[in-house]
Amino acid sequence: MITVNDFNFDNKKALIRVDFNVPLNAEFNVTDTTRIEAATPTILKVLEDGGSCILMSHLGRPKGVSPEFSLSHIVDTVSEIIGVQVKFIADCIGKNVEQAAAELESGEILLLENLRFYNEEKNGDIDFAEQLSKLGDIYVNDAFGTAHRAHASTTIVAQFFEEKKCFGKLLAKEIESIKKVLNDSERPVTAILGGAKVSSKITVIENILDKVDHLIIGGGMSFTFVKALGGEIGNSICEDDKHEMALNILKEAKEKDVQIHLPVDVIAADDFSNDANTKVLDINEIPNGWQGLDAGPKSREIFNDVVMQSKTILWNGPLGVFEMESFAGGTISLGDSIVASTKNECFSLVGGGDSVAAVKQFGFADKVSYVSTGGGAMLEMLEGKTLPGIEAILK
Ligand code: AMP
Repeated sequence: MITVNDFNFDNKKALIRVDFNVPLNAEFNVTDTTRIEAATPTILKVLEDGGSCILMSHLGRPKGVSPEFSLSHIVDTVSEIIGVQVKFIADCIGKNVEQAAAELESGEILLLENLRFYNEEKNGDIDFAEQLSKLGDIYVNDAFGTAHRAHASTTIVAQFFEEKKCFGKLLAKEIESIKKVLNDSERPVTAILGGAKVSSKITVIENILDKVDHLIIGGGMSFTFVKALGGEIGNSICEDDKHEMALNILKEAKEKDVQIHLPVDVIAADDFSNDANTKVLDINEIPNGWQGLDAGPKSREIFNDVVMQSKTILWNGPLGVFEMESFAGGTISLGDSIVASTKNECFSLVGGGDSVAAVKQFGFADKVSYVSTGGGAMLEMLEGKTLPGIEAILK
């Protein structure tokens, strides 16, 4: 895998696609700097070599030029994190931008305006990509969050750099971590899938059944399996049209010798609310008027045993409605188990929107082996797809 470490950037301009799609509050201050911090090692490598950086990113979903989505809002935060005053230019292509890039000296950083102010970015327009390519000598893709999109700056631009293109440190680490779980894994391998719906993760399940020894199915999606198997789930969340799909997964798992672990009990509530009345119930015996909103104590113990035996773990999706304190216990307990197993030399990868939010919220983020920065991109890799942004560098 070719990365920034394979280049010397002395006197070179690195055109780096970063993922600075960060959340802003009403005052346009950055409320979560994780993505900026994640791109910093790549930027510092270029600067330390004696090169300069032209950073390009999207922010939000603007329709044309919209000041609220301007990357100018994040200049101070980026400068503070990297420790270099970043220059900003209010466009991303054209003569002025080319001149600003050309005038950039070693050690300097130029941040371009939001790429998605041009529809050409998402359309993967080749002329737009060619204009971007004029800004740098070496193209670096360090944006895992958009690597599953064939956009101009993530994929198309790479063809203008022939040999002079590579992965940034972040993207390389993301690819390595997923490979470590899916291809070069130490066994037993356990995947834990939670979250609301089985339908959104079916392709992931199908792909990983060939790679894992254990599959823990938790959270809202477990009720579709339990009901399909004849259990009474009361008012718990369920996809009634996915029963056959669930039974097929169980059958396939058996054929492939994958052990499936479903919750056996739940914290049930009489309302979808943090203040609801709750009780512990067998997952097969939830009466009407009650819904399972978290894994029960016996389930937590079973999951803990599996996790502690594992040498490789992949976790995507919470075990309950962790946004409400009353139903966060199962997700926290699982996080504790994964942290303990990681201390026991297990490789643990956490990824996909809500589980990342959960590990951050509960303080597990720096106690697992790796937390992925890309939700959709990670799910597509787990589905076995080759991401266009990755392929464009390898070509
Ligand atoms: P996903 O985006 O598919 O990973 O789903 C994450 C969402 O699933 C979170 O917002 C959780 O609150 C929700 N969730 C997890 N367990 C349950 C459950 N038992 N009932 C309803 N929603 C759940």
